[in-house]
Amino acid sequence: MSQTGFVQVKNLCKYYPVPKKKFWEKKSYVRAVEHVSFSIKKGETFGLVGESGCGKSTTGFMINGLLKPTSGEINLDSKDIQSIKEKEIREKMQFVFQDPYASLNPKKKIGWILEEPLLIHKKYSKEERQKKVSQMIELVGFDESFKNRYPHELSGGQRQRVGIARALMLSPEFIIADEPVSALDVSVQAQILNLLKELQSKFNLTYLFISHDLNVVHYMCDRIGVMYLGKIVEQGAVEEIYKNPQHPYTKLLLSSIPSKDINFDENQFFSKEEISIEDHKGGCTFYPRCPYGMEKCKNILPKIKEIEKEHLIACHLY
Ligand code: SF4
Repeated sequence: MSQTGFVQVKNLCKYYPVPKKKFWEKKSYVRAVEHVSFSIKKGETFGLVGESGCGKSTTGFMINGLLKPTSGEINLDSKDIQSIKEKEIREKMQFVFQDPYASLNPKKKIGWILEEPLLIHKKYSKEERQKKVSQMIELVGFDESFKNRYPHELSGGQRQRVGIARALMLSPEFIIADEPVSALDVSVQAQILNLLKELQSKFNLTYLFISHDLNVVHYMCDRIGVMYLGKIVEQGAVEEIYKNPQHPYTKLLLSSIPSKDINFDENQFFSKEEISIEDHKGGCTFYPRCPYGMEKCKNILPKIKEIEKEHLIACHLY
């Protein structure tokens, strides 16, 4: 497994205690994220993909510092994130949220919303701040008049442009984008994705792109990690995984894209009803749905194996 990367995540875990129903019961946990590891090269887009509740957003929140991991390590530019001051982290790493409206102060004008990160971080003179706001407004496709508008006066796509502009005000190198287009009309999704790509190449940004939308992930990402119930089950170059998925769950997931010609019968899989992270305590988490399940899958957790260069998989079939 490649250990070089601008961002490195090693064995990241997030467990939540389950309230006991009876006092003599043993303590148990929901394993929302379990031993997730990946690295993202400088200037690359790494995608986390999977069904809702698989732990991809929780992983993003832990990397961003919004959630404290139960255990594991996060390195940014070769430094353990815990040893970096909060101010420095914010200057290097920013978050683009799914719902831009919820993340913008409705009482403030766009000019103020964009200037605020510079004020908080005590950056530049007033004149320089204004100049930077104007540059950023232009970069995301607005004219100067947008400085005086309020968030409620903008469309969803325009608000997301503001969210992206605000994330870039401190000139970060790494952006975590959590479902950045899923709240938008399909007609504007492509514009926002293209804007993210343009900004990436202009500023050599590194992205962690979190999405449940397989087409969006295919369009945006260089490499991906496929998550199922808190774990990465397959990881590799997006083209390779989309053309030739290996893990039974990845095959199932990709078979749902109408344009994909994957020789796989979705009906082979058992229903996913009533399967949760809490229910499945040992072995492969996909066992209850997997048509290839063997006895050892029930009890032994499959280890991550590199089946080809940078193509990793956690399954006893390999
Ligand atoms: Fe299926 Fe076993 Fe592989 Fe899990 S480890 S995906 S149950 S074959």
